Amino acid sequence: MAIESPAQASILPVLSHWIDGGPVEVLPEQAGPIYDPATGQVIARVPRGGSSEVDAAVAAAKAAYPAWRDMPLIARSNIFFAYRALVYEHREQMARLITRDHGKTFPDALAEVMRGLETVEFACGLPVHLAGMNTPNVSSNVDAFTLRQPLGVTSAITPFNFPVMVPMWIYPVAMACGNTMVWKPSSHTPGASQLQAELWKEAGLPNGVFNVVYGGREAVTAIVEHPDVKAIQFVGSTPVGRYVYEEGTRRGKRVGSYVSAKNAMVVLPDADMEMVADSAVAAGYGSAGERCMAQTLVIAVGDAAEALRPLLLDRIGKLKVGPGMDEGSDMGPIYSAEHRESVIRWIDTGEAEGAELVVDGRDFQHPDYPDGFYLGVSLFDQVTPDMQVYQEEIFGPVLGIVHARTFDEALAMVNSHKYANGTAIFTTSGGAARRFKLEVEVPMVGVNVPIPVPAGYLSFAGAKESAIGDLAMRGEDGIRFFTQQKMVTERWPEPGKQGPLSLVFPGN
Ligand code: NAD
Repeated sequence: MAIESPAQASILPVLSHWIDGGPVEVLPEQAGPIYDPATGQVIARVPRGGSSEVDAAVAAAKAAYPAWRDMPLIARSNIFFAYRALVYEHREQMARLITRDHGKTFPDALAEVMRGLETVEFACGLPVHLAGMNTPNVSSNVDAFTLRQPLGVTSAITPFNFPVMVPMWIYPVAMACGNTMVWKPSSHTPGASQLQAELWKEAGLPNGVFNVVYGGREAVTAIVEHPDVKAIQFVGSTPVGRYVYEEGTRRGKRVGSYVSAKNAMVVLPDADMEMVADSAVAAGYGSAGERCMAQTLVIAVGDAAEALRPLLLDRIGKLKVGPGMDEGSDMGPIYSAEHRESVIRWIDTGEAEGAELVVDGRDFQHPDYPDGFYLGVSLFDQVTPDMQVYQEEIFGPVLGIVHARTFDEALAMVNSHKYANGTAIFTTSGGAARRFKLEVEVPMVGVNVPIPVPAGYLSFAGAKESAIGDLAMRGEDGIRFFTQQKMVTERWPEPGKQGPLSLVFPGN
């Protein structure tokens, strides 16, 4: 990895926090390096924000809240339509920024932007989402109605792997409901954050409604402990998500943490094996396996593995690993040098545990970019449930084949895993697919679909160790998460027809 010199550090661009509708600049010494994983070079610097920046952002968001809450819904909705159009117009620029510090291929980054936009589009319909219920005549001259009201200042704390899509699963919903937002992106992949803030401004968003603070543990702690932050949606690893949930809810905040995963696809012998092989390679190695919905275990039932293995090897042999901006690259580098080392250690562990390492990507080096954070793809066979490489998230381009004798055994394996984010079944049997859909204990299920990320207007969350909290992101749950329901019971007696005083509990 290239080490930056002090001279280099002083000439590199430094990202700015975005507070109260504009950039807040910091000195280079208050910022850390951002790497281009394709070359291993430092390309810019990201501020190490802490409690003073969080305080300033929360104060701006608090000041902006009353007017934003009270803005007529159509006027608010029009800002979302404008933002949607602007992001679409700048989608390629945004995708290039993603590829620059994340490393994923440009087409993959572009697809990320488009999947994020689906939730912005959902948010455009906010007048409908915020409608309450009205029931006249629940008693004599008494009507009841419900309304959904915003909470105040809310926050999104997001991971490195989807620097645009995951934030777009949170902030549009929070803001559509009338809340204001303090977003803390990952410091590994912050490059596309400022463009999102600038486009909100261009869309006509009032200052202070959308704020961005960079930083790590100190900034997160400041958000979690801030008394004016009313709700947080966190996406990232389970230990940090558990901390945010426990400390946040202890302080009376509403918190949802959407966290680590290890997903398995079940393959029945009757499946279309060509489709399975394409799906497994795409889901296991796409974005270098750095997706929370990656399918990294293939549970092959009966003789399915025998048919599948040569098809996987054929496809793996043709994969091209290279810079995300190179047209021919199927897979980019790992996002950081440290994570690359961690993935290598997991492959060492799998070997030591007795899994058969069929394809070993550990020694891959890109001929033109020896300092880039590249790894080849790896394939294990004979992975078993007692192994750590079966149980734990690797978050790298490592696929494992697991053998099951029967459908029931495969289903039991999926259901006994501690993680439950996404799963899939590949089969031509409607009956088997139906049983799987009904009996699998994983909330996001694909049938012949390897990465079953629900459409952007539906909710998204795992279960067990993959989610902490009661409500999902986005969709109906997202609206419920970011609003407080109020129930109003009102009486309008006819003039002069007020009944007698009674101390009896009011009945209907
Ligand atoms: P991470 O937990 O390291 O970071 C997530 C956020 O927490 C970042 O903003 C980071 O700056 C902050 N953070 C990191 N360490 C912290 C600490 N000690 N104290 C306070 N804050 C801290 O996660 P990551 O490596 O960026 O992302 C990968 C993880 O995210 C994987 O486990 C993946 O499965 C998970 N993920 C889950 C979903 C989902 O919807 N379930 C989606 C995407 C990613």
